[in-house]
Amino acid sequence: MKIHEHQAKEVLRKYGVTTPRGKACFTVEEAVAAAEELGGPVWVVKAQIHAGGRGKGGGVKLAKSMDQVRELAGNILGMQLVTHQTGPEGQKVRRLLVEEGADIKKELYVGMVVDRSTQVVCLMASSEGGMDIEEVAAHTPEKIHKVFVDPVAGLTDAEADDVARKIGVPEASVAKARAQLQGLYKAFWDTDASLAEINPLILTGSGDVVALDAKMNFDSNALYRHPDIMEMRDLDEEDPAEVEASQFDLSYISLDGNIGCLVNGAGLAMATMDTIKLFGAEPANFLDVGGGATTEKVTEAFKIMLRNPKVKGILVNIFGGIMRCDTIATGVVAAAKEVNLHVPLVVRMKGTNEDLGKQILRDSGLPIITANNMAEAAQNSVSAIAGN
Ligand code: ADP
Ligand code: MG
Repeated sequence: MKIHEHQAKEVLRKYGVTTPRGKACFTVEEAVAAAEELGGPVWVVKAQIHAGGRGKGGGVKLAKSMDQVRELAGNILGMQLVTHQTGPEGQKVRRLLVEEGADIKKELYVGMVVDRSTQVVCLMASSEGGMDIEEVAAHTPEKIHKVFVDPVAGLTDAEADDVARKIGVPEASVAKARAQLQGLYKAFWDTDASLAEINPLILTGSGDVVALDAKMNFDSNALYRHPDIMEMRDLDEEDPAEVEASQFDLSYISLDGNIGCLVNGAGLAMATMDTIKLFGAEPANFLDVGGGATTEKVTEAFKIMLRNPKVKGILVNIFGGIMRCDTIATGVVAAAKEVNLHVPLVVRMKGTNEDLGKQILRDSGLPIITANNMAEAAQNSVSAIAGN
C-alpha cells in the first residue's frame, strides 16, 4: 500500500526525522490559511498524488507571496498531473501539501528496500539526489552507495556515519545525517514498509539535514498490525478495478493487454500470462481467484475484467485440486450468463472433476472455446481476438 508524501513525513517525524513544517490541504482556502499559519517568506505548494516526478510534471511550485500561494493552489488542485510514473492519462490532484520553503544547499538521496537476494534491508544513498535519481542509477550506478543492514544490530552509528560521509555530508552535519538515516531505518522496520525513500534529503545553508520529500510503501500482508497506517489509505489513488477486486478477496492487477485472464493460483496465473505473450498477445490483467472461489467470486471476477474496455477476449485456466473443475465451470457459466458475455471465452481446465466440468460447459449452450493444454488455450485466445 502507498501513502501520500505528507503522511510519510508524519510517520517519519515520529522517528525523529526532520522535515519542513507543512499542512495537507484540500481547498484553495485551506492552502492560504495553512501558508498564513506557517508564516513566510517562501512556501512550497506540492501536489499530493501516489506517484513521483511531480516536480518535473509541474506539481511542485514555489510561492513568494500569499497571492501566489492562492494562484498556485488553484492551478494545481484539480489538475491532471502527468509524471513519468502516472502514465499518459495522469492523476487528478485532490490534495496539496503546503510547506515552508527550505534553503537548499545540496540535494542528496537516501532510500531503503528489502533486498531479496540477501534477505535484509538495503540502504541506498547518493550525493546525486533530486529529480534525476533514475538517471544516476542508469548511467552512473557507482554513485549509489549501498549498506546491507544486519537485522539484529540495526543501522549502526558507524554505518550511518560512513555512508553520510560517502555522499558528501560535511563533518559538522554528520551527526544530524545519522539521526535522519537511523530514523528512516527504524520507521521502515517498525511499520513493515517495503520501501522508504527521502529524495531529496537536503543540506541547508545552516548545516541542517532535512527530508524535503518522503515516500513510503507498506507490505499489505502486514497492514493488520498497523491500523494507524491502514487509515492513511487513499482509495482515490488506487485503480478502481483493483480496489473492487480486493473487496472480493481476489488478487487482481490491471495490465495493458487485451486478453483477460482468470486463473487459480498465482504461479499458474504468471505462467498463463507468459504463455499468452509467447503466442504474441498481451494479458489485460493478472487475476488469481484463489483456492476457494465460489460462483459469486467468479462472477465478480468476470464483471471486473469485462469493465475494462480493452478486453477483447477471456482466458480461464484452472487446475482443479482442492478447487474442483465442476465448481469453476458452474461459476463460469453463471457469470457468462449474468454479465452477458460479449467477447470470446476460452476455458482450459485440468484436474479434479475435469470431465464433469467440461460437461457443464458443453451443456450450457454458450459459445465457449475449450482447450486441452495451456499452449492450445493461449493460441485459441490469440486467434479468437484476432480481427476483433
Ligand atoms: P517529486 O520527487 O515528486 O518531484 P519533491 O518533493 O522531491 O517531488 O519536489 C521536487 C523538488 O522541489 C525537490 O527536489 C526540491 O528541489 C523542491 N522542493 C520540494 N519541497 C521543497 C521545499 N519545502 N522547499 C524548497 N524546495 C522544495
Ligand atoms: Mg522527490
